[in-house]
Amino acid sequence: MNIIADLHTHTLVSHHAYSSLEEMVAGAGRSNLRAIAITDHGPAMPDAANSWHFTSMWIVPQIINSIGVLRGGEANIIDYDGTIDLSQADLDFLDLVIASLHDYAIRPGTAGQNTAVYEKMLRHPKIDVLGHPTDPPFDCDYDTIARVAAETGKALELNSHALRKHPDAIERYKELIRCCVRHGALMSVVSDAHVSYEVGYFDCIPQLLDEMEVPEALVVNASVENLNRFLRQRGKKFPTL
Ligand SMILES: [Zn+2]
Ligand SMILES: [Zn+2]
Repeated sequence: MNIIADLHTHTLVSHHAYSSLEEMVAGAGRSNLRAIAITDHGPAMPDAANSWHFTSMWIVPQIINSIGVLRGGEANIIDYDGTIDLSQADLDFLDLVIASLHDYAIRPGTAGQNTAVYEKMLRHPKIDVLGHPTDPPFDCDYDTIARVAAETGKALELNSHALRKHPDAIERYKELIRCCVRHGALMSVVSDAHVSYEVGYFDCIPQLLDEMEVPEALVVNASVENLNRFLRQRGKKFPTL
């Protein structure tokens, strides 16, 4: 399967990443992508920018060198009531909002707690994508989150950076994909790049989707048409690519 956009990347704004926005966009160009989402961590991560970063993102052009640049964020889920660390104004503005569990920002819960908070995120009107739900130690019920994602039109991430950190999690990816296909849930294939050279690197995930005969229509970044449709359905004011 061809992937035309990288919908989860980090810049120098997160101090454990190494490239500027301009370098990340150039990386997208080198990988022949049509779009990139810049999704730095919300303020609850120890090395994240403060909230001004998100508030000021309106100055970033949505098209740079013919590449769509989604002004995004990776919000931290900071408690099991479903509190996140981005403001309502930022959520209203951003072109793409990912919500993720990170053990730097929350103590890992039980599978039941993780599943319940993921369901809350999928029902949150301003959250578009669930970040790396396959990531240990945050076990969850994939069937439930796929069912809720299908119902709400949100996407579940297949994250190659997380897979590189936890290669033995591949069975989790397969199980999540099976659940998404069963329920008709959308998926987002991402690099979660922390340096420009990783932009557009999706590891074995596109091949896995082919082997599992996943319909292209279920992958939000498998074509320009799919991505335009997803952004429109999510109510985003983003130029048609
Ligand atoms: Zn993350
Ligand atoms: Zn990330």
